Amino acid sequence: MKRKDFTRFIDTIFAAKSGEEMLCTEYFDKLRYDVDLQLSGQNAETLLPEVNHHMHQCPEYEEVYLALLKIVGKENPADPSK
Ligand SMILES: [Zn+2]
Repeated sequence: MKRKDFTRFIDTIFAAKSGEEMLCTEYFDKLRYDVDLQLSGQNAETLLPEVNHHMHQCPEYEEVYLALLKIVGKENPADPSK
């Protein structure tokens, strides 16, 4: 990798990080939808790639997502036979 390209690469990472806080709430709006997809057995990672990309960068989002998945999963246990 050329030095110039490397600098741009770093800039991109930091730009993404600085935008993180602001965008996080937008991703939280999609959280329920993401969980619904997951519970209905659909591939949320393919259908909501930007949400999953955010989740990998954002431990807070992942934590809430997993907690919600657990709660909703208990309320509506997935039943493939129905
Ligand atoms: Zn976030």
